[in-house]
Amino acid sequence: MLLAGGARADRLTYTRTLPAREGRTADWPGWADPALVGGYRALGVDRPWEHQAQAADAAWEGRHVALATSTGSGKSLAFWLPALTAVGRTLPAQRRGAVLYLSPTKALAADQLHSLERVLGAMPDGAGRDLRVGTCDGDTPTEERRWVQDHADVVLTNPDFLHFSLLPNHRRWARYLRALRYVVVDEGHAYRGVFGAHVSLVLRRLARLVDHYRPLAEPARGVSRPRSGTLTFVVASATSAEPAASAARLVGAAPDDVTAVVDDASPSGRRTVVLWQPPEVESFTFLRSGPGDAPTADDPWALPDPLDPGHTEGEQETVVTEDGAAEHPRRSATAEVADLLADLAAHGARTLAFTRSRRGAESVAQAARDHLRPVSTDLSRRVAAYRGGYLPEERRELEQAIRTGALLGLATTNALELGVDISGLDAVLIAGWPGTRMSLWQQAGRAGRAGADGLVAFVAREDPLDTYLVTHPEAVFDAPLEATVFDPANPYVLAPQLCAAAQEVPLRSDDLPAFGDADHVRSVLDELVTRGALRRRPSGWYWTHAQPAAGMADLRGAGGQPIRVVEAPTGRLLGTVDAASADGQVHDGAVYVHQGVTFVVDHLDLTDRVALVVRRDVDHGTWSREVMTIAIDPEHQPAAPGAAEGEPGGASDDAGAPGRVEQRSWGPVTWGLGPVEVSSQVVSFERRRIPDMQVLGTQALDLPERALVTTAVWWSVPEDELRAAGLDPEVVPGALHAAEHASIGLLPLLATCDRWDLGGVSTDLHPDTGEATVFVYDAYPGGAGFAERGYQLGATWLRATRDAIVACPCDHGCPACVQSPKCGSYNSPLDKAAAVTLLDLVLGHAPAAP
Ligand SMILES: [Zn+2]
Ligand SMILES: [Zn+2]
Repeated sequence: MLLAGGARADRLTYTRTLPAREGRTADWPGWADPALVGGYRALGVDRPWEHQAQAADAAWEGRHVALATSTGSGKSLAFWLPALTAVGRTLPAQRRGAVLYLSPTKALAADQLHSLERVLGAMPDGAGRDLRVGTCDGDTPTEERRWVQDHADVVLTNPDFLHFSLLPNHRRWARYLRALRYVVVDEGHAYRGVFGAHVSLVLRRLARLVDHYRPLAEPARGVSRPRSGTLTFVVASATSAEPAASAARLVGAAPDDVTAVVDDASPSGRRTVVLWQPPEVESFTFLRSGPGDAPTADDPWALPDPLDPGHTEGEQETVVTEDGAAEHPRRSATAEVADLLADLAAHGARTLAFTRSRRGAESVAQAARDHLRPVSTDLSRRVAAYRGGYLPEERRELEQAIRTGALLGLATTNALELGVDISGLDAVLIAGWPGTRMSLWQQAGRAGRAGADGLVAFVAREDPLDTYLVTHPEAVFDAPLEATVFDPANPYVLAPQLCAAAQEVPLRSDDLPAFGDADHVRSVLDELVTRGALRRRPSGWYWTHAQPAAGMADLRGAGGQPIRVVEAPTGRLLGTVDAASADGQVHDGAVYVHQGVTFVVDHLDLTDRVALVVRRDVDHGTWSREVMTIAIDPEHQPAAPGAAEGEPGGASDDAGAPGRVEQRSWGPVTWGLGPVEVSSQVVSFERRRIPDMQVLGTQALDLPERALVTTAVWWSVPEDELRAAGLDPEVVPGALHAAEHASIGLLPLLATCDRWDLGGVSTDLHPDTGEATVFVYDAYPGGAGFAERGYQLGATWLRATRDAIVACPCDHGCPACVQSPKCGSYNSPLDKAAAVTLLDLVLGHAPAAP
């Protein structure tokens, strides 16, 4: 095989071949609109796959459906068939049903419209013209929006539009809401963390308004009981764990009311999957990069940070130990993937290369073209980049070109992971762990077609999780897929959503169960009344302010408006930095790199949310220092058994009631989960010369302290246990700190998060626990559900953490094990060996593995 040959064989750490799958078809359902079936037939779909028919049947019967199958398995046919049939295109306008299609981004809604139009266009005798379809988002002109409000049977949009526009202006949408029968939630796995929690509540607001507009003769929609004639949700997602449970939580239904369809009946070719670790390099240069692209709707996982090795892609990275010396850095994953892409293209293989950032996609494409140019100019032109931020026409051209083979190689961000219908390629390269096994298989699914073999290569970055995975193939291939994690009970999400709901139609007591546990919802409402956000009247809760309540919620959890980076002399907008990282990245005196050009921040104005920068060539980079403290919320210390919180009559003593500290013991080791307040402040920064990293000077900063109330998981160990294990007081801080970093790197193995969604604090004596303690918290107000997964799976989590540290061949710790790209204390102190001793001590008390 191409990749296994010659000098590179030692880079393969593991190979597995997955067998081909035969396709299984079913009959077209008898209830389906014959013209629609005709349309699909005209496009070459003779018969549906079994899973398509199964999902379509369940949805047609009014059951909620969770359809979790592979890329290219035709999920859209499964939902359009019942949904478009239910529109009843030949019925008079007032009796027609309506459909809402939601995708996580605008671009995907546009892509879906495009493929839907193909089906409609193929319907015999122009029958497709009987269906009125429109997209609506923030950019839709008023005229067009009005047409959609008045006439559309099918509306394609995103959750942001639903939240900020459609629901608050529901009166204009009354015709449509009254007719609404099907809600299709596409790419359901994208709704995780804070975003997932918000969207789940937006969907409950939608369901409530649909009830509100239903003619009185129709039965009200039961919260957890779908009935024929009421709203039916179809959640399409990548293959994931517990798809029915995730879908049920997302749409606010009981898990039993959701039919899961997971048995993929579409055919696929044999696939060879390899794990690949780039080689160590002899010499290297250190190139500091500027902040990466900020996450956007198009590219939600391109996370920014100047120090994240994963985001200095296309460049070689150095590894700096405490004394500033570098040791065995590895070649970057993007450089390696660029070589592979060029080789595969030279052999005529159609290949997709997934990268973790927009810049990564551009640099892989560029490097692959550079490699190919000496061979053939024509060949070098057949490699391109694809990412969010391109114009739709440009994207469509690229998609078409890779489908037809006009292009051989496409380096892409996960903009292509979602939605876009490209499959059956010869190879897929994955530069850096895409975050979850779910995403990995979603990307891998683009390789291989019936009758042809496909190749998939996962190329590790220098990062604890990537390193762990290439040396633990069972964690890639044999571990269960992650569950999509989010928490709709998060009060920081629930409160603004309840305000938005109250503004739409005042909330009545009957409405509360639709938004979660009624007692919990009521306690959040009481708090909102106390704060003056809502007004309580006998008939319910009212929003009485002039401004729109939807403005209180930031669906994607970006933590407020980003800071604009503006060139002072010219007023040119260079870019933005998200609110959460601005203090550390664009403080006064910070070096800001944009497209390889260096600027120095003249002034950070937090009031106007702008950082003014000037162009300057400098020989140094800047590294900020942050001090952090964490306190377990004193009002939520563990409650005595049976003690109740909340108002009289509304008391609940659920063990899992939100907002309470939970604890469990492993012998002397104590685990906790609960609300914490994290206080952080960027206090100073260092100028370090590049490339030798020599410290040129330190300067104090005067920035405000930031407080974050969130959910944390923690574990603590008594001092005598540490002593008995040989951990002396001087090594304990480094052991805890190293264990904290590595465990943050490994938690994404268990929850659908990224290390950037988490934070950590470690201390050899914490006032609340009275012991040496490591905290890992969700980096979002109120929490996002990730820390909770760590608490539930503590033993698995720390075992993986320990193994990752032990498996790393470095001597004193490196980015692949205990160093963190976002450490606020310059990765010091860190003690790799002591961290292993500490984790062995803790794990020695763990309950036996199941
Ligand atoms: Zn290491
Ligand atoms: Zn740290």
